[in-house]
Parts: sequence; C-alpha cells; structure tokens
Amino acid sequence: MHVLSAASFGSSQMMTITLQDFSGSPATGGIRRLTVPLSQLQSTYGRLLRSGARILEVANGLTGSVAMVESSPAAPAAQSSGKPARKAPAKAAHADVPVNLYKPKAPFVGKVISNDSLLKEGAIGRVNHVTMDLSGGDLRYVEGQSIGIIPDGLADNGKPHKIRLYSIASTRHGDNLAGNTVSLCVRQLQYEKDGELINGVCSTFLCDVPPGAPVKITGPVGKEMLLPEDEDANVIMLATGTGIAPMRAYLRRMFDPGERDRNPDYAFRGKAWLFMGVPTTPNLLYEEEFQSYLSAYPDNFRYTKAISREQKNSEGGRMYIQHRVAEYADEIFNLIKLDATHLYMCGLRGMEPGIDEAMTAAAAARGLEWKTLRPQLKKAGRWHVETY
Ligand SMILES: Cc1cc2nc3c(=O)[nH]c(=O)nc-3n(C[C@H](O)[C@H](O)[C@H](O)COP(=O)(O)OP(=O)(O)OC[C@H]3O[C@@H](n4cnc5c(N)ncnc54)[C@H](O)[C@@H]3O)c2cc1C
Repeated sequence: MHVLSAASFGSSQMMTITLQDFSGSPATGGIRRLTVPLSQLQSTYGRLLRSGARILEVANGLTGSVAMVESSPAAPAAQSSGKPARKAPAKAAHADVPVNLYKPKAPFVGKVISNDSLLKEGAIGRVNHVTMDLSGGDLRYVEGQSIGIIPDGLADNGKPHKIRLYSIASTRHGDNLAGNTVSLCVRQLQYEKDGELINGVCSTFLCDVPPGAPVKITGPVGKEMLLPEDEDANVIMLATGTGIAPMRAYLRRMFDPGERDRNPDYAFRGKAWLFMGVPTTPNLLYEEEFQSYLSAYPDNFRYTKAISREQKNSEGGRMYIQHRVAEYADEIFNLIKLDATHLYMCGLRGMEPGIDEAMTAAAAARGLEWKTLRPQLKKAGRWHVETY
C-alpha cells in the first residue's frame, strides 16, 4: 500500500481508482476504473471498501502515477518506484508456509547442538543462542516463524509443562546452512516475588540445556512475521531484546554470504533498516554479524541503536527505541509511502505504546493519523507485529 500524504488532499485534481468487484466485466477479471475529483477520493474509497470491492490502485487521473494503493501485496499495482508490478503474490505464497508439523501431543525431539551466551562482559541478565538439530524429522520453517518448546519436568499440577513459543532466530537453512537445525534467542526470565528470586520455567530450561540433550519441539507456527519475497522490498525492523530473533533471521537471509549462495531466487536489493533497543552495549545481540553486513552492504543495511542506559534522548532521559523512531520520522515516513516498505516490530509487549506514541506524533506532524494509517498498513500486509 502506498499512502498519499494528507497534504495532497484538497486540490481539484482528478484521481483514478482501479478496483476489482463483481460489477466489473468478467472478461477483465472484474477490474474497472473510476475517476473522481480528489476531494471525493476518501469518501469514494471508503464506500468502495465497504461494498466489498478490492482497491488495486489509486492513481493521479492525469499522469497515471500511483498515489495510494490499498490492496494485498498481490495486487497488480504499479510500484511507486516506477518498477513494474511484482510477481510475488505474498498472501498466496503463504499457503506454502509450513505450520503445526509437530503438535504438543507428539512433539519432535531435537538435540541441542550448542548453547552459548550472546552477551558480553557487564551485560544485564542472561540471553543465549540455542541451536538444535532437527535431523530425522520433518520440521521445516521459514524466517519469521516461531516454534514451541515443552520444557522437561512437570508443572505444579503434576502434568507436563505447557509449551512456550520462541521466535526462530535462524534462516530456513539453519546456522550451518545444512537445513537441519533451528536456533533460538532466549532470555532467561527472572523476577522477584515476595523476596524470592523466581526463574522462568522454559527460559531457564533453554538457557541451561547442555549440548547433546533432547528438547521437545512443536510447530512451526506463525505467518504474521514472514519476510516479503520481494527482493526490492524495504524492511524497517523495530526490535527490543530478544525481539531481534526474527530480524536476525531476515538479515542473514538478506546479507549472509552463505545464505545468499543458497538462495538463487532471493538476492536482496532493497533497504533493511534495523532499530535495536537494549539496556547496555554489552547487551547488544548478534553485533558482529550486523557489523559485517554494514561493511559488505552499506547501501542496503542501516543499523540504529537505542541503548537506554547509556544514551540520552533529546529531553535528557533514557534513549528508548521510540526516541530513535521519532528522530528518524522523516525518513521512516518517506519509506512508508512506498508500496515496497514493510515494518516489523518484535520484543516485549511493553514496547508497543512507546512506538505507537512516536508514530502518532510523527504522523500528525505530516497531517496523517497513525490510528488510521496503521490498520491500512496492516491490511496491506505491511505492518507486522509480534510482541510477548
Ligand atoms: C510468539 C512469541 C515469540 C516469543 N519469542 C521469544 C524469543 O524469541 N525469546 C524469548 O526469550 N522469549 C520469547 N517469547 C516468550 C516465551 O514464550 C516465554 O513466555 C518466556 O520465555 C517466559 O517463559 P518461562 O517459561 O521462562 O516463564 P514462566 O515460568 O512461564 O513464567 C512466566 C510467568 O511469570 C509471571 N511473571 C513474569 N514476570 C513477572 C514479574 N516481573 N513479576 C511477577 N510475575 C511475573 C507471569 O505470570 C508470567 O506469565 C515469545 C513469546 C511468544 C508468544
């Protein structure tokens, strides 16, 4: 979806809406065009959507240049970059995405290959990269999905523990590129209750599980965070802490040399912009990988950090990811205008209000309403959120 800036509304220009509905000729696949004055664009647009029509394109009536597109990524809309419509109907492609190959009653039992800390000296907490062998099973996945883990032992009720979900941090080919492993980025949950330190059941199990140990795995699940197949897409990623997991998989798919060799049909050429929020520098995750992508692909990869306990925001307070979003709002909104731009947000649920606030203020400064824009982006399959 390409979003027209609200400031453009109000001139007397004519606009052409291309839509698909049942009143269109079957010979054209139900596709027809409607030309309306710009002043009536919003109301006509809303009426058409309510009538069930699928809006494929809204273009400047005189020049034919695309102004706004409300459609699935599959829509044959010209891209704002001036390139021809993309071949990849993303929604349809999702039909091939594997889900629930292994269910809680009959999980796949993988074996831990490695379990290493991702943190540097002086970091807060405990975050591990856990890689498991999937050989001998049929557990396949794609970037952006999650798997379920059933920790060993029994819950207080004497029954096996429930599954916990973890975003997959590896590409479909796995870290060793052999296609038979899966990696997770796990933060051990620890909190105090009534003066007692409580360790989260599954996160502690995963952070402690030694190489060679069996792990019960379910899934994969999730289609919300899939990466577009479009090699020219722009991908803006907002991650805090272990929310980096899916982003690490995307970035490997885009930039890791071995991955690129394994993916003849996916040579990323767009812009990937990672916003990463952590409390301290030693808490940065996968830093070496990201630095190597910055060196190899300076035109395609951008990396902006918010290190809350070390950096100050413009008001002198702690620098959180939403402050970075506010700081770069112009560039972010210029990218959002392009059909090819997708936004991903992943991390603790608590990050959502801050991002929403930053986007609301940034949108308002451009005469837009984030509360209207966000569902449009979501509907167009361009706003992807997984918070927990
Ligand atoms: C789609 C999805 C993807 C996820 N991806 C990841 C990931 O990539 N990495 C990752 O580390 N986690 C991820 N999680 C979170 C993960 O599933 C677990 O929730 C997390 O690891 C904690 O599980 P646990 O068994 O260790 O904690 P549990 O033993 O289940 O304890 C959690 C419970 O403790 C209580 N609790 C928590 N904090 C406090 C507190 N401060 N005070 C009092 N009570 C508290 C709450 O009741 C909470 O439900 C993801 C979750 C989802 C839904």
